[in-house]
This record gives sequence, C-alpha cells and structure tokens, in this order.
Amino acid sequence: MGQLENKTALITGGASGIGLATARRFVAEGAHVFITGRRQAELDQAAQSLGPNATAVRGDVSDLGDLDRVFDAVRERGRGLDVLFANAGGGAYATLEDLTPEEFDQTFTINVRGTVFTVQKALPLLTEGASVIVTGSTTASKGVPAFGVYAATKAALGSFTRTWAGELSGRGIRVNAIVPGPTDTPGLRGLAAGPEHVAQLLGQMAQGVPLGRVAATDEIASAVLFLASDQSSFVTGSELFADGGEVHV
Ligand code: NAD
Repeated sequence: MGQLENKTALITGGASGIGLATARRFVAEGAHVFITGRRQAELDQAAQSLGPNATAVRGDVSDLGDLDRVFDAVRERGRGLDVLFANAGGGAYATLEDLTPEEFDQTFTINVRGTVFTVQKALPLLTEGASVIVTGSTTASKGVPAFGVYAATKAALGSFTRTWAGELSGRGIRVNAIVPGPTDTPGLRGLAAGPEHVAQLLGQMAQGVPLGRVAATDEIASAVLFLASDQSSFVTGSELFADGGEVHV
C-alpha cells in the first residue's frame, strides 16, 4: 500500500520543479493528482510523464475564474480533496531602490492572494482530516538582498499557515508550510543571467547552505509527502524547513 492510496491531491504549479517532483511522488504513493499551471504545453508534457493517475487543468492562481474552473474539475471527479499543495509561486527580484509598484503587486498577487484564494476555494472540497501544504521559502527569514518583496510574501504565508491551522482544526484539517532552501528547479535556474551561468549560480547558492549544495526537487518532495500523509497526523501549523541547515545551523 502506498502512503496516499485512494487519495485525491491537487498541486498548483505542478508542471515544473518542486510541484512536478511532488506530483510524481504522490502518484507513486497511490494518489490521483490534479496539477495546475499557466502554460498548456508544459502541463501537457507533465501530465503525459505522470501517466493515467494525473489530470492537468490549466489555471493561473491569480485569476479567480481560473481557480473556479480548477476546482470544478476536482468536484466533477466526485471524491473530494484529501491533499492540497498550494505551491505555485514566483515573482520579482529587485532591491528596494529598483522595485516598481507593478513588481510589488505582481509578486503579492501570485504568492499571497493566489495562495489565499486557492485554499479558500478548496475548503468545500476538503475531506475531514485533509492536509493543506503551502510553499514558503528560507528567504523569508534570511534578509537576502533583492529578495525583499518575494521574501515578504513567503513570510506572510507562514503567518497564514498558523492562522488556518487553528481555523480548520475543528474539521481535522491540518495546515503546514514546506520551507525549501535553494532547490535546483527551472525556476531557480531562470535567475541565472544565461545557461552558461547556471553552474555558477547553483555554486553561489550552495555556499550559504551548511550541507554544501542546493536541494534536488525529490528531496523537497519527500518532505511534502511527510506533511501530506498520515505520518504527520499530529503536525499542524508548523513550518518544515528542508534547507540543508540554511536557516538554523
Ligand atoms: P518552477 O518555476 O520550476 O515551477 C513553478 C511552477 O509554478 C511552474 O509550473 C509555473 O508555471 C507555475 N506557476 C507560476 N506562477 C503561477 C501562477 N500564477 N499560477 C499557476 N501556476 C503558476 O519553480 P519552483 O522553483 O519549483 O517553485 C515552486 C515553489 O517553490 C514556488 O512557490 C517557489 O517560490 C518556491 N520555492 C522555490 C525555491 C527554489 O530554490 N527553487 C526555494 C524556496 C521556495
């Protein structure tokens, strides 16, 4: 028996990076997984690689109409939702001096508003004992130059996690945050000035990590699986740091 046998899960930003690695793990553990993302071609490719126990639904978390469509697709399956991984995120990277109002709004809209309304719209579908996981970031507590607005959105998600854990405890629903350190994903690689600078960027990122390297997406997926499964049945309102010791060592 897999750890998520007969469970239904939804992963936003599930076509790439941490979301896709987690979708792969959830399917291997017996779940049916809905993945969402903004880019249809990327979604189709991801769904194909995941096989028949995955359903791809295009949807931008910053668009409330898209979110309704996504949850309609889950509703149509008629099994409720046992695991919600509200993982989609990204945003602008700029110093205080350079940050524009548009970058500020875009980053808060995707990371905070997008996550809040993903979780809100999932509420009617969540089963008793469901697990909700949001994706934070170690940048929230590290004061990394040029990560100010992104870090602030991830700090906000830590706060929401604690509030929602209390609000939803009466239904037995657990809410936790996974807090990855630097992780080798297309999103992270996209921060490099060009493909020839990727190795240099990953090397720089690894310098701040006591374990001396960035994470592989599978390592983050393992921690998310712990929060999604009954293995963490008494864990709620917590932030699980999968960061190679970046924040605490
Ligand atoms: P990624 O770019 O590889 O994948 C992100 C996925 O989210 C993509 O499929 C993208 O299409 C989707 N997405 C982005 N904006 C969206 C939106 N508005 N609506 C729907 N889907 C959207 O990125 P990743 O590195 O795997 O990041 C996943 C999460 O992990 C993000 O929340 C990110 O902030 C967080 N995170 C990443 C790292 C890291 O080092 N990679 C570290 C800490 C936290």
